[in-house]
Amino acid sequence: MQELIKAVREWIAATDARRALNASDEPALFAPLKKANKRVKVAEAVLRREALAAQVKPSCGWKQDEDGNWDTACGDKHIYIDGGPKDNGAKFCCYCGAKLREVPFNGV
Ligand SMILES: [Zn+2]
Repeated sequence: MQELIKAVREWIAATDARRALNASDEPALFAPLKKANKRVKVAEAVLRREALAAQVKPSCGWKQDEDGNWDTACGDKHIYIDGGPKDNGAKFCCYCGAKLREVPFNGV
């Protein structure tokens, strides 16, 4: 986000500089504006990529303990009266919202 703010500020400064000089027909004066414009586009692309990456949540492993309760990877504990997450139709962790991955008790 800081990168985009910086790029937008540069773009505004370059635009103001062009207006102040009032010489829009001089190609050399467009160079800083074009450069700043490109930086804004790059920063926007980075932000879009980061936003998409944030939407892809990792899975949350629910591991069954020796009592049949479930310890969640995000630090909670869940108790079912009967069966486990899959038996109860749970597809997502109700604590962190990530896709639920069931890890049955294996005696360890
Ligand atoms: Zn979780």
